[in-house]
Amino acid sequence: MACHDALTQLPNRAALDRHLASTIERARDSEFAVLWIDIDHFKEINDVFGHAIGDAVLREGARRLQEAAQGSYVARVGGDEFIGIADQLPLPAGAELVAGRMRAAFEQPIEVDGRSLKVDLCIGIALFPRDADNAVSLLANADAALYRAKHEGRGAVRLFTAAMDQQLRDRRALEHDLRLAIGRGELYLEYQPQQGRDGSINGYEALVRWRHPLRGTIPPGEFIPVAEKSGSIAEIDDWVLAEACKEAASWEQPLRIAVNVSAARFRRENLDVQVAAALRQSGLSASRLELEITEGVLIEDLSRAKKTMQSLKALRILIALDDFGTGYSSLSYLEAFPLDRIKLDRSFVASLGRSDRALAIVRAVIGLAHGLGVPVLAEGIETGAQMSLLLHEGCDEMQRYLIGRPAGFAASKHGQSALTHAFL
Ligand code: C2E
Ligand code: MG
Ligand code: MG
Repeated sequence: MACHDALTQLPNRAALDRHLASTIERARDSEFAVLWIDIDHFKEINDVFGHAIGDAVLREGARRLQEAAQGSYVARVGGDEFIGIADQLPLPAGAELVAGRMRAAFEQPIEVDGRSLKVDLCIGIALFPRDADNAVSLLANADAALYRAKHEGRGAVRLFTAAMDQQLRDRRALEHDLRLAIGRGELYLEYQPQQGRDGSINGYEALVRWRHPLRGTIPPGEFIPVAEKSGSIAEIDDWVLAEACKEAASWEQPLRIAVNVSAARFRRENLDVQVAAALRQSGLSASRLELEITEGVLIEDLSRAKKTMQSLKALRILIALDDFGTGYSSLSYLEAFPLDRIKLDRSFVASLGRSDRALAIVRAVIGLAHGLGVPVLAEGIETGAQMSLLLHEGCDEMQRYLIGRPAGFAASKHGQSALTHAFL
């Protein structure tokens, strides 16, 4: 019992530690590989479908891993993480072969409770003695390779390289610092104007930044993904929401304030409660608050996303679909969800004027949105040519560096001066 994982019947972490120690002991003159295996997006399966289904996925996943290992050692070391030890020579080819078989074993969806769940794996590999000659470093290196594999998207296999070690240390340090950042007052917001066809400012999007004491200002593209993985994202998004509402409530004009909500935050239970609290505490009227969500939150669990959307709409706030066109762009949810705005991703805008295809896509998206009665805001306009093409195509609003790079309201806490500043 002490060395078996009750859920999957595989050896557990304690057993793995012992097995690895004795393998190293015996392998003084030979080599072997440690494979760190992680199920992609398992947390979402658990969040969305519940723990009973999560457990069933782990049981079936463990069975498939063991089968694919063909006699090689596999242990479950926690949550959705497994470790394999492979000594098929030559290395690393032998280990990559095992990893490939493991991934192939997940090509068929896992059937649970009448649901068919497509699951994929990421695997990081470290070699003994090439990458490390002791258990602690071997595992750390396999973990670093796994981190790199995950970084590259779903379903990747990566071998450890020395550069990864440094990256992993950096990430750990960043995660640690990020957990303390809110308390230390290191996060702050910048506001980027959203402009109507006639040049008037309709609102601002709040964009979070992190003033790191040693690294300087870190853009959200770098630390939001870290926060999503390490779990501090909800705290950050809730802080941004409260802060942005407070800020907007102090403006002289009743302009709109747009706030980004990450997919991980959207899926948590109490988003509507948090939004209601931010409105109440700031005194901001609900019709001035717009939440920007991305397509990812809608496709994963449609019925749950619908419930969350309804509870938010019941508060009378606005909802915008951010980065439209970059994800799955399923047309069915444009019909199913009550959207107040579609934000055309800046990648399409960037190719405007250079490619007829981009123009065709922009035209189609605007036509589609207008057909549904939803206004379109284009992001990231950098040239006059892009601007006039978008105006010509009937785009309703723009957000761009040209009129305003994201800026704080440092000079004055009043919207008026920020407006003047934005027009300059
Ligand atoms: P987003 O919501 O699509 O935000 C728009 C991004 O486009 C911003 O980058 C903005 O600075 C940039 N942008 C605006 N105009 C231009 C332009 O003319 N040219 C170019 N090249 N870029 C332009 P930023 O601030 O780095 O934010 C990146 C992403 O980080 C955001 O994309 C959003 O997904 C995320 N983010 C920002 N703030 C928050 C936040 O408070 N919470 C969450 N969850 N995510 C946030
Ligand atoms: Mg946004
Ligand atoms: Mg966007």
